[in-house]
Amino acid sequence: MVPGQRQWDNDLVVDIFNTRDASLILQVPFSTRQNEDRWFWLADPKGKFIVRSCYNVLNSVSNASNSKVWKFLWGLEVPGKVKHFIWRALMNILPTVDNLLSRKVEVSLICPICSVANEFVFHCLVECLFAQSYWLLSSLGTGGRCSSFFEWIEQIFIKRRKEDCKLAVMVCWRLWINRNDKVWNGHNGRAQNLVNVVGHYLFHWQEAKRKNFITVEQVQLGHGSVCWGKPPPGWLKCNVDARVFSSQSRYSFGGVIRDSGGAFIAAKCQSFPGLFRPREAEALAVREALSWIKNLQLSKIIVEIDCLNVYSALVSHDTSPNGFGLIITDCQALALLVGEVRFSFMRRSANVNAHNMARVRGFMSGPEEWKDVPPPWLCPMLTVSYD
Ligand SMILES: [Zn+2]
Repeated sequence: MVPGQRQWDNDLVVDIFNTRDASLILQVPFSTRQNEDRWFWLADPKGKFIVRSCYNVLNSVSNASNSKVWKFLWGLEVPGKVKHFIWRALMNILPTVDNLLSRKVEVSLICPICSVANEFVFHCLVECLFAQSYWLLSSLGTGGRCSSFFEWIEQIFIKRRKEDCKLAVMVCWRLWINRNDKVWNGHNGRAQNLVNVVGHYLFHWQEAKRKNFITVEQVQLGHGSVCWGKPPPGWLKCNVDARVFSSQSRYSFGGVIRDSGGAFIAAKCQSFPGLFRPREAEALAVREALSWIKNLQLSKIIVEIDCLNVYSALVSHDTSPNGFGLIITDCQALALLVGEVRFSFMRRSANVNAHNMARVRGFMSGPEEWKDVPPPWLCPMLTVSYD
């Protein structure tokens, strides 16, 4: 660390540690307040341990050639229970008779549907006579020669159109329901019925999803203005942006303050050492802006940013136990000191002034500040960015 300052000594870190470690160390931001050390889970953006992120990490390090199959499966637009069923089939954990026998359940190994071969996952879903009668009726055919269910589904995922892949997994799921209906209720399904049921089910599920499902991103982006809007009378607005210069291990901050008439009040840009990801750099830029606003002794100010992650964290008060969360808490503490501060989100395309401010600063470190009179290159942009 630089003695007496809350920042890394870049040169020293690079000298002492290897490239990987130095890069990781320089990505750790400093808080402006005294905080106790805390553990957090690096593989999750919120720093909290969740099983899914652990699964993703293990997948990425295991170099599994199967990962494409899993990725494709989880991305398929079919009901979750169908994906889950296929996952169980691929993991060979369905209660087929061969699996029951291996767990010492006394059952006959013969397939309860066709009664001519032993039952295991591949037989039940692909090779069984009943399954074959469906596959022949469908547009998918019987598929090529495969020795396992995994290989079979992999071939479908690689060679077939996405619509066919959806149909294939839906049919497998339905074949299993049909098999259970036969085992437990003695009902014999008909291949043609199965074709119709699966087609209708998938069609209605997709329709319902289209009507009701609006992504979180769409809802949240709805708040984002598409061009700069004046703050209410008596209020100021500070547009903030950050830029990361990875090759120079630096990031920069830009801020432009205007009043409710759209008139220019002040602007500032500055760059700092640090190899942060964009999300952290955006949060650090907000912290820098609030500190600048505090020094200018301004209040009743709207701080507007174009990073949805940072905006959501600032307004939700859901702070993560990681470096990002620390910076957000710094921002919230600073905002309380400033007085009346509101946060607002605007689309990136509308945040041109702050964006250009941040861009001005590359590896130049000293701050540059303007009060009352904007720099000449900013003037044309101040007039075009009204709504
Ligand atoms: Zn069979």
